[in-house]
Amino acid sequence: MPVYKVSAIVLRRRNLGEADKIVTYLARERGKLSIVAKGSRKPTSRLAAATELFVYCRLVAATGRNLDVLTQSETRHPFLGLREDLNRFAHAAYLSEIVDRAVEEHDPHPDLFDLLLAAFYQMESGRDPELVSPTFIVQAASLLGYQPELETCVRCARPLEEPQLGFSPTLGGLLCSACSQAAPDILPFSQGARVVLRQLRTAETADLDRLRPPRNIRRQIQEAMEAHLKHHLSTGLKSTDFLHRPRPVAQE
Ligand SMILES: [Zn+2]
Repeated sequence: MPVYKVSAIVLRRRNLGEADKIVTYLARERGKLSIVAKGSRKPTSRLAAATELFVYCRLVAATGRNLDVLTQSETRHPFLGLREDLNRFAHAAYLSEIVDRAVEEHDPHPDLFDLLLAAFYQMESGRDPELVSPTFIVQAASLLGYQPELETCVRCARPLEEPQLGFSPTLGGLLCSACSQAAPDILPFSQGARVVLRQLRTAETADLDRLRPPRNIRRQIQEAMEAHLKHHLSTGLKSTDFLHRPRPVAQE
């Protein structure tokens, strides 16, 4: 059987038979892959580490007739910090699910891989997941070809100057205050949120340390970006339910 080597992140996994798992990876070189990790549920398995959620690894797999088979793995970064904290876990699972839904098997998206890896590192090193997550979404949306319109009203094309605007997932962007009254699926969106979201669109790790948007602005951005993605990925994302379960309120 031909073998290949890739750098990969674990997006999802499920049990197969008594001791195996089918793992869905995002591989930098090959896009999404479903690979069988035989015996990986046995405590002694050398492959087990490469089947944990969010793990970043280098792996060798053999091309199978139906499913590819994991033969070797080496952990690059385990992202334990994302699995041990409920809030980070929820956000990391959400980002993984977005990628899983947005990318087809064997369709490489190296930029998206790098973006997901950066978001995982940012969250693990203590950056606010409520800032990392919408940053990932707005940047991923651009990479996937559905960048939200933030410059002019998506309905009347006038500049967005008022303090209160609206975001329409079906129209794919912001609306001026007058158009917001008329459209059906409008989410509240302030001028302040627009300013921050435009910065997030190109933000790198260092910028996230500088930006400290108030909680109501982070909320507006998070909700608008979730709805934007949901619209493009058509079916609802399961992890968002988990994401919105009540949790202790984070410090401002
Ligand atoms: Zn308008």
